[in-house]
Amino acid sequence: MNSTLHIPKAEIHVHLEATITPSLCRKFAERNKVKLSADIFGSEYAYQWEDFYDFIKRYDIVTSVIHTPEDYYELTYEYLKECASHNVLYVEAMVSSTHAKAKGMTYHSFLDSVHQASLDAERDFGIVSRYLMNGIRHLGAESVQVTAEEVLSNPHPALVGFGLAGDELHFPPHLFTKTFDMLKQESYPITVHAGEWDGPENIRNAIHLLHPTRLGHGVRSIEDLDLVKEIIDKDIVLETCPTSNIATKIYDNYKTHPVKKLHDLGVRVTVNSDDPPFFNATIQGEYEAMAGIGFSENELASMTRNAIKSSFLEEDKKIKILTKLD
Ligand SMILES: [Zn+2]
Repeated sequence: MNSTLHIPKAEIHVHLEATITPSLCRKFAERNKVKLSADIFGSEYAYQWEDFYDFIKRYDIVTSVIHTPEDYYELTYEYLKECASHNVLYVEAMVSSTHAKAKGMTYHSFLDSVHQASLDAERDFGIVSRYLMNGIRHLGAESVQVTAEEVLSNPHPALVGFGLAGDELHFPPHLFTKTFDMLKQESYPITVHAGEWDGPENIRNAIHLLHPTRLGHGVRSIEDLDLVKEIIDKDIVLETCPTSNIATKIYDNYKTHPVKKLHDLGVRVTVNSDDPPFFNATIQGEYEAMAGIGFSENELASMTRNAIKSSFLEEDKKIKILTKLD
């Protein structure tokens, strides 16, 4: 095991609030006086859930213990520390201001804490990290618009891009064109979850209507080879999350997951942990699983390069990490 530990890694698709480990979850719950029912914690995965909608429900319960900027600091620092121990050089994690605000934090108070943890982890472990603000589809177009406007009018050193997450099936791309046209107008970097639950048609709509340079998942593009060609031609990078897709039963196993096929067709892919403890996923584990289905060491290293190159990190920092890789 861990034959890939020495390979330098990068991760560009992970939801920061969802990196909370059971021990941090219990600690925050106690500190913030939140009562958690015991059936939240599972045996197969760190948290227990039935299907995707149950997963979303329990995701909200688990992350509801995160109440304060101090919680955000600890969450961020602990995750980066863990990643650094797996030879991860760069993490680009998604954060949700709607979550922070629902708990009484402000845009600045939670982002400042995340940023401080990021700086401290870089000092202590050498790992670099940046953050993407997520709009949440199922909170509606107005909520996503307000979230994006706040980002554009309050630039923050921790923030480098904007993402769209949440219920893909019931909240398709066309609902969010106003927000993403505005972001494009401002040349603000964009990534969008698409092609995890929904098929090629909505991946195409996401590309045409929302202007992403990366797609969260995007794996169901494999069902339409013209779309795969368009993704290659437009040099759109896929943030694939194989363990996540297997846990939510979109694919049966790593061998039937399309990541290898997409890579072999010429798509620039990356692997990512998505919501780690909900799926027993780690970025180390993703690389390990990819080695198990035939990715060579060079190919794994090229995935790290894809992640850094397509990241929204400042150019000079990017070059520094890429040089370290070579
Ligand atoms: Zn995701």
